[in-house]
Amino acid sequence: MRQKIVAGNWKMNKNAEETEDLLNDLIDQLPQDVDAQIIVAPTFINLASAVDHLEFTNIAVAAQNMHQNENGAYTGEISADMLKSIGVNIVILGHSERRAYFHETDTILAQKVTTALKHDMTVIFCFGEELKDRQNNQHFNVVENQLRDGLFHLENNDWEKIILAYEPVWAIGTGETASPEQAQEMHEFIRETIRKRYGSNVAEEVSILYGGSVKPDNAKEIFSKPDVDGGLIGGAALKASDFAAIVNGV
Ligand code: PGA
Repeated sequence: MRQKIVAGNWKMNKNAEETEDLLNDLIDQLPQDVDAQIIVAPTFINLASAVDHLEFTNIAVAAQNMHQNENGAYTGEISADMLKSIGVNIVILGHSERRAYFHETDTILAQKVTTALKHDMTVIFCFGEELKDRQNNQHFNVVENQLRDGLFHLENNDWEKIILAYEPVWAIGTGETASPEQAQEMHEFIRETIRKRYGSNVAEEVSILYGGSVKPDNAKEIFSKPDVDGGLIGGAALKASDFAAIVNGV
């Protein structure tokens, strides 16, 4: 069944002590009775302590990335098996910062998705157009291609483990948000694209999150749109009171 989800992507922020502090604040401030899955994604080295810390809470832990291969000579990398072995069952893949700064192509991302699913992990798959694409009226094409090249090798039943996160690059960390209407228009297009390839069941069940400068004061309106099932939050996930206010808006 389609689920409301609010996920916090902490990016390269918060050392060990700050991670514990923010987790404690979240435990204090997040609503207990909200009808949504709440996820936080601290940095790799703080994942194990986060899993420990959140064991008896309604907050799940995700990694921000992982390598596509099982193990071996890939200095500095982290595998799906390593994540699973410390109790991390969710991974964010395809974030625009990974695509832009670490040259992750659609082909690599398709491999990462396959590896994550092989390890029975849930994937938060990020995609979205750049400003120039929207200015050139190419945003629908770009998004369709990212979905096709990153995910359309999957079988219907694989989609139980996929969460989509539409994040227009021009709205990430810029303070510029897609209007609720722009978000809805794209989310509807995404669901239709999934429907054409996989049918109505998959299309209706997949959660599609919006990401890009979601804040306490705009979350509720964006989340109220019929095809927006929650958010992937960057900057505003670093302050417990902001993240809690956003979760309350879902
Ligand atoms: P932002 O980041 O909320 O700071 O714009 C969103 C994201 O990158 O997931």
